[in-house]
Amino acid sequence: MLYAEVAVNVPVRLNQTFHYRVPEALAQQVQKYSRVEVPFANRVVQGFIVGFSAPPATAKIKDIKRVVEKETFLNDELLTTARWLVERYLCSLGDALQCIAGPPGVKRKSPETVLIAQVDQVTLKGLSKAPKQKEALELAMLNPGLTKNQLSQLAGVSLSVVNALLAKGYLKEVPVHGVTNDAPVDWPKLTLEQVSAVQQVKEALNTKQPSAWLLYGVTGSGKTEVYLRTIKEVLRQQRQAIVLVPEISLTPQMVERFRSRFGDKVALLHSGLSQGERYAEKERIKSGEAAVVLGARSAIFAPTPDLGLIIIDEEHETSYKQEETPKYHAREVALQRAAQCKAAVILGSATPALESFCRARPGGPYKLLTLTKRIEDRALPSIQIVDLRQELSLGNRSIFSLTLQRALARRLANQEKCILFLNRRGLASIVVCRQCGQVMKCPRCDISLTLHSDGWLKCHYCSHQTRSPASCPHCSSRIIRSFGIGTQRVEEEMKRLFPSCQVLRMDADTTTRKGSHEELLDAFIHGEAQVLIGTQMIAKGLDIPQVTLVGVISADITLHMPDFRAAERTFQLLTQVAGRAGRGKTPGEVIIQTYDPAHFSIKAAQKHDYLKFYQQEMITRQALQYPPFSHLIRVLFSGINEADVMAAAQWWQDQLAAAKQAAGFSQVEILGPAPAGIPKIKDRYRWQLIIKGTMSKEIRNIAAKVLEQAGLRFKQVAVSIDVDPI
Ligand SMILES: [Zn+2]
Ligand SMILES: [Zn+2]
Repeated sequence: MLYAEVAVNVPVRLNQTFHYRVPEALAQQVQKYSRVEVPFANRVVQGFIVGFSAPPATAKIKDIKRVVEKETFLNDELLTTARWLVERYLCSLGDALQCIAGPPGVKRKSPETVLIAQVDQVTLKGLSKAPKQKEALELAMLNPGLTKNQLSQLAGVSLSVVNALLAKGYLKEVPVHGVTNDAPVDWPKLTLEQVSAVQQVKEALNTKQPSAWLLYGVTGSGKTEVYLRTIKEVLRQQRQAIVLVPEISLTPQMVERFRSRFGDKVALLHSGLSQGERYAEKERIKSGEAAVVLGARSAIFAPTPDLGLIIIDEEHETSYKQEETPKYHAREVALQRAAQCKAAVILGSATPALESFCRARPGGPYKLLTLTKRIEDRALPSIQIVDLRQELSLGNRSIFSLTLQRALARRLANQEKCILFLNRRGLASIVVCRQCGQVMKCPRCDISLTLHSDGWLKCHYCSHQTRSPASCPHCSSRIIRSFGIGTQRVEEEMKRLFPSCQVLRMDADTTTRKGSHEELLDAFIHGEAQVLIGTQMIAKGLDIPQVTLVGVISADITLHMPDFRAAERTFQLLTQVAGRAGRGKTPGEVIIQTYDPAHFSIKAAQKHDYLKFYQQEMITRQALQYPPFSHLIRVLFSGINEADVMAAAQWWQDQLAAAKQAAGFSQVEILGPAPAGIPKIKDRYRWQLIIKGTMSKEIRNIAAKVLEQAGLRFKQVAVSIDVDPI
């Protein structure tokens, strides 16, 4: 009889596993790391087999109910990573394994096929009586290698339309990975800075020792080319590379860029894959056949047999932090896997996270590689700051300053394209004086206070609160109020000022349908529209040469979000948005509108001066002991009944204080309980505690102790732990 040790997906003591009997009938269907269903406390839960053992001593032993998935692509190296996740992010081993394995895949019987078009212009003309077929065929020509389902979705037609094209012979089905690029691989000439960066990483790769690099390069300086060359070296050594990009930039153009260099060796891992596609890609990765794994955050757990290199592009992006338990950061996982596999890590960004740049200072754990020049000696765009307080005194009440209006008129007359950007993140209400630009802030934490519906301004770190003032405490102006503008409002204003101009809007409302994001971009690049209005969605990675003007409607929304990282986010966002302008032959122009034109993060972005920004921001962080000078853990409590939520938060506060006392960690601070940044979501009240300390180990230690004491004490309140929240 076989006995299995199972890590279950329920909040149990962090490293605890349970023993189950493997029924005779299932013995052939299980192996180490299989995903199984087991009875647990009167219900059935999923878990992973982490080992087989002799009959355990306990008398009451239950049977495994069902095998969900025999091959999960977990392995011993990934189990070590899972155990590390448990320690680092305070989750259960079952949660960690679930996160690494991802959703179950399904092994397909026949290999998947994709479509290629076989037509000429004459055939296309002949289809003019069947407009749906014609449109689908045109899309298939533009995007070779789509599956039948993908094409029908992209074209917005039924599968029967695609089948009709197949029957006529205009489309042909070929095996997936049969679409290879036969054109000779084109490796462009590198700049001197690129050569130096590639050379240094190559030397490190040859030592087969772990190494970490921060590739700091201005926008448009050719970081991707450095990635491609170092990957080439890793492939020469018969090892594998993982390349992470933010989900939003995982576009067909991006994938094509890698496929044109590495062909079939590229595997894709992202949330849009079907179960069959995911299984097939993981199989190719495990065998080593696909040696270049390209994907979003979760691709960091790809089951590579001999990992040599991990690249994280736009490493400062918040999408690398998972929002659900375990709330891991892909950058930290990358460093852990690299240490284990003796691999190199390259973190690339034009605006590195403060923590990353700090680690790349002399004597730090990262080595710094810099690219200071744009390729082909293109100039960085010129950035102009517009003071919105002046507009008010000039009598201009439009959300477009006169400067922006004039620039738009000029660019539109020249048939050039423009992007108008509005950040919507952190929609919490902040109170700002329109006359002097002053923002109401917490005197203790230096973060913006949020306006609650009861009229109180509250700090969501330390729970300090004050009445919303009727006039500005700084200049006594009575024009002091919360603000928020939407992209729709920007679109209306655009239509009012430039009625004949074609405008596209890209935000959460216009991109809910799958593929609509790509369609809108395509329409902007190839179509009539001269202006694209959008949220942070359009800030990243867009490379459209015809765009010569970028307007930032309000830098203040980011600048005043209630978060100690507000200045950093502002600098990053403005730099990224500005980087969208002038990627072609015509130099680019950027206009930033703000009520706070003297703020150092805006000034530094204007001068493309990351170092200046870094030095100034580090002074603030040190003064208030925020990361990277300290570590934080956020404990979030949520529930239907606010009294229950507050009671749970208070109980935790007491226990944390006691645990801190007992351990003698005098450096550790416990802030709150306070209402969370968003105090209520879907009828659930949210309160939070923040644990702050100079040693990450110390604060994790006391949080883990209290987590264990809490057990299942709070049935009506969900408690979620976020180590290093961002
Ligand atoms: Zn004022
Ligand atoms: Zn405060």
